[in-house]
Amino acid sequence: MRKLPRVLIVEDESAIAELIAVNLRHNGFQPIWAEDGESAQRELDAVLPDVILLDWMLPGQSGLQLARKWRADSRTKPVPILMLTARGDEPDKIAGLDAGADDYITKPFSTQELLARIRAVLRRRAPEQVTDSVTICDLALDAATHRVSFQGQPLKIGPTEFKLLHFFMKHPERVHSRSQLLDKVWGDHVFIEERTVDVHVKRLREALGGAGIMVETVRGAGYRLTAQPQVPLRA
Ligand code: CA
Repeated sequence: MRKLPRVLIVEDESAIAELIAVNLRHNGFQPIWAEDGESAQRELDAVLPDVILLDWMLPGQSGLQLARKWRADSRTKPVPILMLTARGDEPDKIAGLDAGADDYITKPFSTQELLARIRAVLRRRAPEQVTDSVTICDLALDAATHRVSFQGQPLKIGPTEFKLLHFFMKHPERVHSRSQLLDKVWGDHVFIEERTVDVHVKRLREALGGAGIMVETVRGAGYRLTAQPQVPLRA
């Protein structure tokens, strides 16, 4: 079973925290509640959550100060922060984003809205999950067994090239820039040069053999996988 995403709720009002926690639990998340910055810090020191819901108005250190602190710390830096604010003021929202929050949501908010925002920050941060199978032309990828075949013949392919191919096949015909590929395939927790993408695309083409031409270079833009390559497919 896949691990449930952990959500650290930093909120001093227990009624609000409880309501959020119940809704998160019902929707496949694992909520953890901290009522102030100090207890939130203890939670972070123990286990890093997948996302932090951070209230703006807190006793002691404000949400804004905490966001700034956690962004400056290399350990907590990769964890997305969603600010909860009761204020509708534009300057406050901007201050929150400046402090390093990934997004903000204004109270009162609906459960649906909150879930959508949490999923959005998680998607932006997390590398594409390899969970299914896809076939384009005669190129088939089975994520469950980690197998790739072309015209029924199995292909040998490395783990990074596999993830790269899976992403291309799930989003065919679209051009992806190197930085988008780094973000979606490698995830932005890592620091990798964009040239690394070129290296893996080259390896991927080699691994694909006759289907390698389906991975096209789009000059000045990036790469795409197409079902209609410039040159006809051959075995
Ligand atoms: Ca509060």
